[in-house]
Amino acid sequence: MNPLRVTIWHEYRHEHHNDKVAGIYPDGMHQALAAGLAPHGFDIKTATLDEPEHGLTQAVLDETDVLTWWGHIAHEEVSDEIVDRVQERVLNGMGLIVLHSGHLSKIFRRLMGTGCMLKWREADEKERIWVVDPAHPICAGLPEYIEMPEAEMYGEHFDIPPPDALVFVSWFEGGEVFRSGCCYQRGQGKVFYFRPGHETYPIFHMPIVHQVLANAINWARPVGNPPMVRGNIPQFMR
Ligand code: ZN
Repeated sequence: MNPLRVTIWHEYRHEHHNDKVAGIYPDGMHQALAAGLAPHGFDIKTATLDEPEHGLTQAVLDETDVLTWWGHIAHEEVSDEIVDRVQERVLNGMGLIVLHSGHLSKIFRRLMGTGCMLKWREADEKERIWVVDPAHPICAGLPEYIEMPEAEMYGEHFDIPPPDALVFVSWFEGGEVFRSGCCYQRGQGKVFYFRPGHETYPIFHMPIVHQVLANAINWARPVGNPPMVRGNIPQFMR
């Protein structure tokens, strides 16, 4: 079987303006993710906001089985035409993994149909990400919980539709909880939201995070059905 084709999409702005972020991700968060996911056997490409068509030409998307998405300060700079294109590919079977502040991206809000806002706080709080659906493929090989020594807090209420499967729930030192691993199907495509990934922590250098994301990419892979037949059709012949 050919390796899964993964495109890692990254806004790639903080690294240019924030020394702390540039120190953690000197080549950009997308390259850290690409390096971390490479041992899992994927055929990996990267794409960034400032490339022509945000690096997401129709040809790139047609050759992508699973797309990952990290954005934060420039969601509104993503063109609606590209959002339409990504949505169409998801509805036709491409997997989509939305990371951290991608909760407010145009594509995630479009696919969810809700506001997708939440509570947040930057106070270097400990986070425990509890596995609440251990039989789910995204939880394969994981311990009972994943601990982040320092994290940005995200708290409920998170304005999303009820997930088809909820695989992680986070606890934060400051008292809040959050639905940190949310699975959806949209059309023929699968969507996974994963909470960790604030830019001032080395989250995407963590092997356990690479394992979660590799599991999620494998879960979100297209099953390979032909395009669905819809519209006006003749009767079947007896
Ligand atoms: Zn953040």
